[in-house]
Amino acid sequence: MSPLACYAASDEVSRGRLSTEQPPSFRSQYQRDRDRIIHSSAFRRLEYKTQVFVNHEGDMFRTRLTHSIEVSQIGRTIARALSLNEDLTEAVCLAHDLGHTPFGHAGQEALNLCMKDFGGFEHNLQSLRVVDVLEDRYADYPGLNLTYETREGILKHCSIAKAKTLGELGQRFTHRQQPGLESQVANIADEIAYNNHDVDDGLRADLISINALRECEIIEEHYQFTVDRWPGILGRRLSNELIRSMINSLVTDLIETSKVRIEQAGVRSIDDVRNAGEALIVLGEDMQRKHIQLKRFLSKNLYNHDKVRNMAEKSRHIVTKLFEAYANQPDLLPDKPNGVEADSMECMIKDYIAGMTDRFAITEFERIVKPGALAKTAGPI
Ligand code: MG
Repeated sequence: MSPLACYAASDEVSRGRLSTEQPPSFRSQYQRDRDRIIHSSAFRRLEYKTQVFVNHEGDMFRTRLTHSIEVSQIGRTIARALSLNEDLTEAVCLAHDLGHTPFGHAGQEALNLCMKDFGGFEHNLQSLRVVDVLEDRYADYPGLNLTYETREGILKHCSIAKAKTLGELGQRFTHRQQPGLESQVANIADEIAYNNHDVDDGLRADLISINALRECEIIEEHYQFTVDRWPGILGRRLSNELIRSMINSLVTDLIETSKVRIEQAGVRSIDDVRNAGEALIVLGEDMQRKHIQLKRFLSKNLYNHDKVRNMAEKSRHIVTKLFEAYANQPDLLPDKPNGVEADSMECMIKDYIAGMTDRFAITEFERIVKPGALAKTAGPI
């Protein structure tokens, strides 16, 4: 690995862990973070959580686990090309969705609504709560006791009100600072990954078509490139080559643009990056415009497709009814993890539901809310 840039995160400049530990003998601090994330139970549960399609819809679609692995693959490439800390980037990418509810954004919206009088629900904050508090693995401390830099990356967004309760970690929101570059890489790698794999999954599910997608400039460009290079190419090979070419162009543009931005900003340390006033890991203006155009297309034609909305409606119903059932019968809740201070019973219910996989939520709904109800419902779920 090439030497790290002066503005990269490193063990030497790390702000450390909440609970002090002996440094690892054979790994970097961020490799230790990554390993703890991979061994966590929240990470394993990502396998059965929805990205866009409900987990049991088909074996070909992305889950939150495969999504997180794809984000990490893209993030590591970018980090390495920019001489940033690849281990930290990997740790943030793998952990970024740990706090997601079952059923993707529909589950999150429903849980946020259920919690509206009790502080709401934000998945980024919940991811932080998973690694700081809810994982119950180590004898010496709660959670995974990750480094400040990994936690900073996990907390992508946060309301100012919540940030004020988070001490040093929340300061960047109240002081309008940026996170380190590895966190910025993980953030954009997430967007590149989901835009592209949602195109792939949407095509696979027959909810969108390449012809319709060609109204997006970025698709049309890479469609033309692909059919010119391989005349007569069709089906999966066409869509795979098109998506591969598209990811490559986004990653290349991001690396080249960010290199220039970093140089122009003249940053010499991770704290310079935090005080730079703006994000330095960015797409070029033209690429950003095309990326957003595709995002809008997906929002209108895939995430709002009748079939996806229908699944989302049922998902919201399951989450809401489960919340009500636990609120009415708190004895149905499991024991809270050692040392967890839940602010309220609602907070315990929120933690429990947010940690569920799609299939566990469906099973629980069938068991305690409406036995047999879902089996009678036509269509998915
Ligand atoms: Mg994500």
